[in-house]
Parts: sequence; structure tokens; C-alpha cells
Amino acid sequence: MTLFDVATPLDLAMQERDAGALFVLNHSGGKDSQAMLIEVLRHVPAAQILVVHATLGESEWPGALEHAQAQAEAAGCAFIVAEAGKTFLGMVERRYQTRPEVPSWPSSSTRQCTSDLKRGPITREVRRYATARGITRIVNCMGMRAQESSARAKKPAWAPHAEHGTAGRSWYDWLPIHDMSTADVLRTVADADQQLHPAYALGNDRLSCVFCLFGSAGDLRNGAQQNPELYARYVEMERRTGYTLHMSRKSLEEITGVPA
Ligand code: SF4
Repeated sequence: MTLFDVATPLDLAMQERDAGALFVLNHSGGKDSQAMLIEVLRHVPAAQILVVHATLGESEWPGALEHAQAQAEAAGCAFIVAEAGKTFLGMVERRYQTRPEVPSWPSSSTRQCTSDLKRGPITREVRRYATARGITRIVNCMGMRAQESSARAKKPAWAPHAEHGTAGRSWYDWLPIHDMSTADVLRTVADADQQLHPAYALGNDRLSCVFCLFGSAGDLRNGAQQNPELYARYVEMERRTGYTLHMSRKSLEEITGVPA
């Protein structure tokens, strides 16, 4: 590279790799995480990769944790689970009990589910892992893709994380598959002779919480049909709080057409 070349996100990531950084792979068990791990392993040795799964417990698709763990272990990567001290439905219940006059469920503007159940626990566990091993350089890898939404398209594929970096520790956020299309993702997984989580065979587009505030009607319907007990608890919570999970403000039963 010359002085006049602009370093790409991959170039910057490789500089961190050569400096011995730990690459933390946020793995939901979904297809984007799976393709991201395959992609990152093309450039980074497994010994420098830590795969972390933020478990949503009862609210996530059964087998999501095991799917992430199996891929990590087959590749020879370290694997840890980050768990919050509260559950999704517990969070909704608490908000309903303390402030019944405001919507009880998370929303795109107050998305505590992601911050409190995923990002917070992951950051805590990564810090703990790095501190215990004297690791001072971290590259935090996430499977967001530009194609998914205009908000995600605007995200830089490489950026220093001012809040998590400290005087003694550097922390960068990297989106290794930011440019990939859905077809690229599926091809990457197929070319690696890997299987997706079984929920995709049922027609799911995405995988994380069984019932997500942004979920498509098809994903929510699959979720209801395959996880009827959990579905009944979400529907009961919607009825009791008087608010809906989904951003459309339609109830789960209206969206899925599945009676609880
Ligand atoms: S998958 Fe949806 S409901 Fe679950 S934590 Fe993420 S945004 Fe919230």
C-alpha cells in the first residue's frame, strides 16, 4: 500500500490481526453470523477469534446457542455465552408493573432488549475475558449488512469504539460482511458445506428471538407454530399489558393468524 491508497476496513482489520488483536465474533446462531465467521476465518487465525453468543434464553429459537457453539468449536475458536441477569418477558413485566401508562414492550426508539440483553452482557464478558488474558486490542465483529436497512447501510464498516476503548485498550467495531447480499450469505454457508439452523428450513428469514418486534409475518407465524407454549405466554402478556410486541402495533394473533 502507498501513502495515497485509502485503507479499506479489511486492511485496517488485518493491521489489528498482525498486532495480535482478539477478534470477537458476535454470533446469534443466524445465517449472517455463520457467514461472518466463515469469512473472518479466511483472514484471521482461529486462535485469535473468540465467538460470543448473547443468549436470550427462553425467548430465542431453541438450538441457536448450540448452533453457534458447534460452528465455533468445529473451527477451533474459543466460545463463550453472555447472559443477562433478566429475561425478555421479565423486562416487559417489570415495565408494566412500574409504569403501566407507557408501552411495556421495547421499541425501535427504546430498544432495551438489544442493549440490556445482548450488547451489555457481551461487552461485560468480553472485557472480563480480555482482562483475564492481558489482551489490550479488540476487534468486535458484527454481522450487520447494508442491504438489511437504510440505518445499517449508513453504518461504517470499520470504526473505533470510543466508549469501550480505554487508555490501555483499543476497541474497534468491524462489519466484515457489510457488503454481502442475502444470496452471498447463503452461498458462503453452502460453499463451506455447512447447514443453517433448522428454523430456516421452516421458511424463517431471520433468527434470533422467536418473536421479534421487527419480525416478518412469516417468521412470527413459524415461531408461533413451532413454539406454541412460548407463543401463548407472549399473547397473554400482550393482552394483560394492553400493548403489542410488534412495531406495526398489530397483536401477534392478528399478524400470525394463529390463535393462542
Ligand atoms: S431479536 Fe428483536 S426482540 Fe430480540 S433482542 Fe433483538 S430486537 Fe429485541
